[in-house]
Amino acid sequence: MPGLIFVALCYAALCAASPFGTCRKCKGWGAKVRVSRFTRQLKRGRECRRCRGYGRRIRRGRHLYNLVARLHHDGTR
Ligand SMILES: [Zn+2]
Repeated sequence: MPGLIFVALCYAALCAASPFGTCRKCKGWGAKVRVSRFTRQLKRGRECRRCRGYGRRIRRGRHLYNLVARLHHDGTR
């Protein structure tokens, strides 16, 4: 399955290059965004629960990458 390995490598490279991804729930705002009914301006609502207001989340793959890197390090001692 060379295709699968290629995809896995690409994902690993992506995680290595940018370990943090934008929070999907709030799209990087860090909070829910609401449009005011009266002024039609964007208002920041409650803090996003998923990223706790940071707007960014660590990728799951990055965690895996750290694990593999450590295993590799231990194995090549
Ligand atoms: Zn969020």
